[in-house]
Amino acid sequence: MSPPRRTVSIAGAGPAGSLLALLLRRRGFEVRLYERRADPRGQPFDSGRSINLAMAKRGIHALRHAGVIEHLRDTLIPMRGRMIHDRAGATSFQPYGSRPEEVIYSISRHRLNALLIDVAIRQYGARVEFECEVRGCDAGQHRLELGAPGAARAPCSQCAARWVDYEVLIAADGAGSAVRASLTAAGAVQARLEPLAHAYKELTIPAGPDGGHRMEREALHIWPRGDFMLIALPNPDGTFTATLFLDAARLDALRTPEVIDEFLSREFPDAAALMPERVAEFCSHPLGHLATVYAHPWHTGRTLLLGDAAHGVVPFHGQGMNCCFEDCVEFDALLDESTQWEALFAEFTRRRKPNTDAIAAMALENYLEMRERVADPRFQLQKRLSLELERRHPQRFIPRYTMVSFRHDIGYAEAMRRGQVQQRILEQLTAAAKDLDEIDYAQAAREIEAGLAPLDSTTINSSE
Ligand SMILES: Cc1cc2nc3c(=O)[nH]c(=O)nc-3n(C[C@H](O)[C@H](O)[C@H](O)COP(=O)(O)OP(=O)(O)OC[C@H]3O[C@@H](n4cnc5c(N)ncnc54)[C@H](O)[C@@H]3O)c2cc1C
Repeated sequence: MSPPRRTVSIAGAGPAGSLLALLLRRRGFEVRLYERRADPRGQPFDSGRSINLAMAKRGIHALRHAGVIEHLRDTLIPMRGRMIHDRAGATSFQPYGSRPEEVIYSISRHRLNALLIDVAIRQYGARVEFECEVRGCDAGQHRLELGAPGAARAPCSQCAARWVDYEVLIAADGAGSAVRASLTAAGAVQARLEPLAHAYKELTIPAGPDGGHRMEREALHIWPRGDFMLIALPNPDGTFTATLFLDAARLDALRTPEVIDEFLSREFPDAAALMPERVAEFCSHPLGHLATVYAHPWHTGRTLLLGDAAHGVVPFHGQGMNCCFEDCVEFDALLDESTQWEALFAEFTRRRKPNTDAIAAMALENYLEMRERVADPRFQLQKRLSLELERRHPQRFIPRYTMVSFRHDIGYAEAMRRGQVQQRILEQLTAAAKDLDEIDYAQAAREIEAGLAPLDSTTINSSE
């Protein structure tokens, strides 16, 4: 019998790859991490591209599991709900949950990634090769092709050979995964990238003269405009990062400074007034594209796809990275059971795929909710009613947003299934009601008891 394989190569030191490296080192595995970009520690971040992220319970749980949450506490800004801005600049607040702890957090992507890499290297001794691009792999021969980022065929500065052997390879190289492309080309994996017609552009709302935030700090701000929207998340330095999501063709048509300014000032007058550099930033920041990645299977032999490489989702539920972190925690838990890699990869896929398919679908649905439904009085009534039903039936009725964002013990697939039942109930109850005091709570109780089993007796997240 061959000895157990203890060296794991990881492509990509993004959130998933760096967290996984840390967890594997903690278990004593040798880890070789290959990252295309330079070492992010001590470097300024790339302005104009997804500067901050919303972190919810699944992400917090993973960082706690990895023992790093305390390093990040001072950089987490709680966001207690959505602040909706109408065209006239009036605002209304919609809380995310009914309990004080039901908040999501804004966090710097750069700071988070740099911290995970730092802990993986300094505390756990992970070996990371930066500025080293994985060009692809030969999964049958267990060989990985490396090179300098972007260069034609040159070896990277740290790798003498362009091809290196691996024992086990985990591809965490993101939605555009080179490893996935190799596996697909070899016929081992079937993958499809479904682009969203809408793209995004990031802008900045600077801090006020006193260095403070110029809008409510503890909220995720949304300017819903039907078929497009602007959102803004707070940063610790008093700024907000605003992101405009709009049909890619319409974004592309905004070309001259006058047209750009006219559009932003007309659609988001209060935000535009807080963004003196809006036109310059609009012209210089890159256009971001969005897509959902569907792949199956996620593994062949001793090679596995994980994180966005396996299941990239659109960002409208703020769950992409949370979900990737959950992958890492689930993978770590499976290592308690076995290091028979092929069986482990198959089991990982079996447990995760229904959940990642569910969050992919819910993230697409949530775009409609954020850009359009949040401004609809019927939707607002349903939101308030779902919090009221949770108060009355806490074991059975938990708003879908709460299950996804604050209950890491409930898998995404289960949250989606219960969410569908709950939505039918909400629609029935609000069909003829205009306010909470017009709701028939006796009917609500009957429907909830018939359709929603108490949560502690249902299938919850398989990792718990
Ligand atoms: C606009 C936007 C907003 C988002 N907001 C949120 C949010 O609020 N909350 C949330 O949870 N998620 C959010 N996400 C999703 C989140 O960013 C991703 O799910 C998460 O970053 C995926 O992590 P990953 O490590 O799998 O992949 P990535 O973050 O893509 O990391 C991949 C890493 O691999 C490296 N790499 C890539 N190719 C190669 C190669 N060939 N060789 C070597 N290295 C390589 C990259 O440089 C990178 O470091 C958002 C995404 C976008 C686009």
